[in-house]
Amino acid sequence: MRTIQNGNSGPLVTYAQLSLRRAGEAPGSLDGFFGSRTESAVKNFQKRYGLAPDGIVGQRTWAELFPYLSAYRPVRIAEGDTMYGLAVRYQSSVDAIRTANPSVRPENLAIGSVLNVPLPFYASAWEVPYSSLLNGIALDGLTKRFPKIRVFSIGRSVLNRPLLAASFGIGGIAVGINAAHHANEWITTPLTLRFLEEYALAESQGGRIGGFDAAELYRRTRLVLVPQVNPDGTDLVTGYLAANDPAFQSAMGLAGSYPRIPFPSGWKANIRGVDLNLGYPAGWERARAIKFAQGYNRPGPRYYVGSAPLSEPENLAMAELTEREAFRLTVSYHTQGAEIYWRYGQKAPVGARRIAEAFAAASGYAIADPDEQSSYAGYKDWFIDAFDLPGFTIEAGRGTNPLPVGDLETLYRENLGIFVNSLALAPDA
Ligand SMILES: [Zn+2]
Repeated sequence: MRTIQNGNSGPLVTYAQLSLRRAGEAPGSLDGFFGSRTESAVKNFQKRYGLAPDGIVGQRTWAELFPYLSAYRPVRIAEGDTMYGLAVRYQSSVDAIRTANPSVRPENLAIGSVLNVPLPFYASAWEVPYSSLLNGIALDGLTKRFPKIRVFSIGRSVLNRPLLAASFGIGGIAVGINAAHHANEWITTPLTLRFLEEYALAESQGGRIGGFDAAELYRRTRLVLVPQVNPDGTDLVTGYLAANDPAFQSAMGLAGSYPRIPFPSGWKANIRGVDLNLGYPAGWERARAIKFAQGYNRPGPRYYVGSAPLSEPENLAMAELTEREAFRLTVSYHTQGAEIYWRYGQKAPVGARRIAEAFAAASGYAIADPDEQSSYAGYKDWFIDAFDLPGFTIEAGRGTNPLPVGDLETLYRENLGIFVNSLALAPDA
């Protein structure tokens, strides 16, 4: 990770601040500004870890901070180590260490072997903006803490970032959940990652999630989560892409055609200005006609449909994943509006209305149809049209995008029932 120091700002600074706070230091608020409080917290941390206390976060300091971000620490076993001893030393628990290292025999730790010790934090942090970097770190943390979670790449973004998916479950009913098609709706990434983390935790403990037996859901279904469909656009909106980066400059140039849309906070599209939720082959020509008539006839922050359906690598990767996994139900997470969209035009798959009603009862969100101008070429539209199976768009939360991370608790409470019901109510083959 890049070196940061006093005077710098951006998501990397926020990640350092979060790590410092989790390590017991006092870096001030997690505001992404590297000032004197953050600098003295870095110096204290460096002293504790035997590093030169220069207050600069370079490679060695990042390496020591990293476990506090990823929420696990690889530990090489020395003579006399026990699981209980490791749990005490790292504020972990024997259960968490056993879950993270299923093939290790607790009574006989092999000297020199490496155990992943879960730290007492979530891998799916809620306090900070989700760049593609953090999405990758969180997924790495999740699979190290819960090896039953498998992380894999489904393709590459325009800027060649991996498009990451996580699967959990061994059942025959595949359920696809995706988030952050739209860049300034990136809050849906930590929201859906937290569902996965709580679900895996409940499964490991033989517990329940949202009223359901987690182990039973795990046996019956296979969840495939794509938490960040649009990593490049998200990096633009969160400030992870530096203002002098050529990709930032080029996006700013495209945004210049749409001066009334705030930049970059109003950006929804992928990095080359195509709205990824208008890129699927379901009424795409109709979407094109509508959006062109509205003036969105060239690449920009939102509503440009692209040159053809699936012209964008992110859309293609999602379409291929969907066909490969043969999803029985899909949920696409967007913000905001507190609404549930459940059909494509008048096309309503068998059982979809009943599932939408269960989602509505659990969340308090309204069952609705998008207006005619927004009724085509979305992922949900394509899924319903192509497979005639239940596909939903959830417009989570209320307010103005990007919703603040302070909304996550409310969003989680409202949407947990949608998450578990998407697994419990997905139709069998
Ligand atoms: Zn959206």
